[in-house]
Amino acid sequence: MKLPAPAYRQAQGGASSRLARDRSWSLLPPRGMRHIAYIGIGSNVGNKAHQCEQGISEILKLDRHRLLARSSLYKTQPIGYTEQDWFINLVIKLETEMDAPTLLCSLKKIESRLGRVKTHRWGPRTIDLDILFFNDDRIQTDELTVPHPLIQDRQFVLVPLAEIDPDFTHPVLRKTVQQLLEQLREEQGVERVPRSRVP
Ligand code: ADP
Ligand code: MG
Repeated sequence: MKLPAPAYRQAQGGASSRLARDRSWSLLPPRGMRHIAYIGIGSNVGNKAHQCEQGISEILKLDRHRLLARSSLYKTQPIGYTEQDWFINLVIKLETEMDAPTLLCSLKKIESRLGRVKTHRWGPRTIDLDILFFNDDRIQTDELTVPHPLIQDRQFVLVPLAEIDPDFTHPVLRKTVQQLLEQLREEQGVERVPRSRVP
């Protein structure tokens, strides 16, 4: 038996009025706005690489998220508070339908699910998930600053970013990721980990 065409298809057919066509869209599954987010991921406690991978898989379990790119893993020396173990860092590029505050909230939940305990700013952490860029947006609230304010000072962010999108332009500084990296002269100890040697 031939099943009737879905209502929205009928509405799209032949002599349908504009009104009918417009109404037809309400029958389609709603889709939110799509955003592009770059997330910086870091860990320096326990099995660092494994925790970063877990962070990625937890992010991808969130509804309507798609991984567009990911950098290699990097072994990096701590900056800021240097009396702590080295880090594994990487950057991923996501398509998401969440707005930035909702995404931040989800990232914080993932951090605590993966066992992050609050120590102090820049201190040791099982997992750190930061929103680096969110489209070209500039956001400044008590909870969230986007672009992340320290991108231009950190090779452990710029090197993996440059691996996946060297031409992305920082929406505030108006320089590409590659230019920001070239302008950061000091050596900060960022070493790509070959796939075969992931710790
Ligand atoms: P950090 O990553 O600077 O070492 P934390 O991960 O402990 O520090 O984050 C401290 C606070 O920074 C978080 O509670 C969060 O609300 C805030 N924050 C502000 N901007 C961002 C951002 N772009 N990404 C992630 N957290 C941010
Ligand atoms: Mg953080």
